[in-house]
Amino acid sequence: MKKGMKKYTITLLSFIALLLVWNQTEAEVSGPPTIHLRVMETTDLHGNMIGYDYEDRRKTVEFGLSRTASLIKQARNESPNSLLFDNGDILEGNGLDEYAYRSHPLDMANVHPVFKAMNTLLYDAATAGNHEFNYGIDFMEESLRGANFPYVNANIYVEDGNQLEEDDLNYFNPYTIIEKEVTDTAGEKQKLNVGVIGFITPIVAEWNKEYFRGNLKVKNIKETAEHFIPIMKSKGADIIVALAHTGLQSDKGLEEKKGNSVQALSKVQGIDAILFGHSHSVFPVKDELQKVPGIDLKTGTINGTAAVQAGYWGNHLGLIDLKIVFQGGEWKVKSSLSTIRPVYRTIKSKKKEVIPADPLIEQIMKKDHQDALDFLKHKK
Ligand code: MN
Ligand code: MG
Repeated sequence: MKKGMKKYTITLLSFIALLLVWNQTEAEVSGPPTIHLRVMETTDLHGNMIGYDYEDRRKTVEFGLSRTASLIKQARNESPNSLLFDNGDILEGNGLDEYAYRSHPLDMANVHPVFKAMNTLLYDAATAGNHEFNYGIDFMEESLRGANFPYVNANIYVEDGNQLEEDDLNYFNPYTIIEKEVTDTAGEKQKLNVGVIGFITPIVAEWNKEYFRGNLKVKNIKETAEHFIPIMKSKGADIIVALAHTGLQSDKGLEEKKGNSVQALSKVQGIDAILFGHSHSVFPVKDELQKVPGIDLKTGTINGTAAVQAGYWGNHLGLIDLKIVFQGGEWKVKSSLSTIRPVYRTIKSKKKEVIPADPLIEQIMKKDHQDALDFLKHKK
């Protein structure tokens, strides 16, 4: 072998050896497939699609989905994989909602104005709040048909005169499983089955008894979850997101029946993230009320389950960032971080930080907003 050739061979061998070592460390560093999934929430919008206070007839920067929409776009840009959900209470609560109700029937050509805005934001799923029932069941059904995304609720059943039992008929689809194509941290495409289930506070049957009596009945949230979560797992859900239209604590009047709060729901095995609402609060925040055993305000977990609550009227966007790792043949949530982003805040008591409104949502709502103002002007 020529001298030069030998030198070349050694160099080549060291290069190959180096490649092997490098490959090994690379494999160690990257580890098992890992997905970062961002779950986003709006809740208790009560018809507030734009920054307008119909009560006082004035513009406002403090709430409205057109501003939350800008936060949604920003949050989507920051994350490779995301899902957007709404937690209910949208069909009753302001002048726009009242106008929509007075001008029904709604149909495919006359979609409820809230869904004109929400459909453009491409929500993945939603659950119904108690205020969806305020104008009656027929109006709710008519309105929800305008949503381009599925509504899920597992604890409202068709009243059949019998006690609550296993074969009761669900009024809504109890859950949906979203086959989400995601990109993992190595840049590979993965399929993640995200199960989404919905719950409502049973107080709705009391508050809206004129519509519920003889038609619908509501089951305990925790018991319903314990029934459905294993079913969702058996149908292939890799992770499970619960949309709960109930507060951290139960409504007054439900205390004697345990299991209807988010705190109770958080203890159910198999739920990876809880998006909640109804009580018009934000979670997590540094608040004495939230400093209770089992709650970690730094990460936003309740009894180890990730949770978030996004205020009301679109004044906040709720986010849960999940790190999901493929281990032992299944996807597992390894860590989470819950955060809330306001559309408006005051800095140092004077300066205001305002999120700009999304011009598309404002444009889409323009006519209905004007019609609502005309309606309110001529209302007795
Ligand atoms: Mn509400
Ligand atoms: Mg509510």
